Amino acid sequence: MSEPPTESLYEEKQIRCPKLGGPVTFSYCRVESTGRPCSRAINCWSAYFDAEGLFRSHMSPEQFAQCFFSPPKSKMSTILELIEQAKKASEKPQDKEP
Ligand code: SF4
Repeated sequence: MSEPPTESLYEEKQIRCPKLGGPVTFSYCRVESTGRPCSRAINCWSAYFDAEGLFRSHMSPEQFAQCFFSPPKSKMSTILELIEQAKKASEKPQDKEP
C-alpha cells in the first residue's frame, strides 16, 4: 500500500484556477477557504497527484466532509458573513496608546 503524498511536494506547483481565471499554487488552494482547502481542490488537483488521499490523511473525516461535501455558500451569504465579521472587528476595543 502506498503512502499518501505530502503537501510539501506540491506547494509551489501551479495550475489555472477556474474561479479566478489565473495561475494559483497548491499552497493557495489548500488554505483558500478561510484556512481550509478550497471545496474544488480534489477536482482541480487529482490530475496531478492523489489529492483526495492527501487531504484525507491531513483532515478528520468530519473536516473532510465539511470541506468537500457541504453545499457551496451563495455569494450573498458570503457577503453577509463578511459584513458581520467587519462589524464585530469594528466593535472590538482598540489598543489604547499610553
Ligand atoms: S482548488 Fe479552488 S482555488 Fe484552487 S484552482 Fe481549483 S478552484 Fe481555484
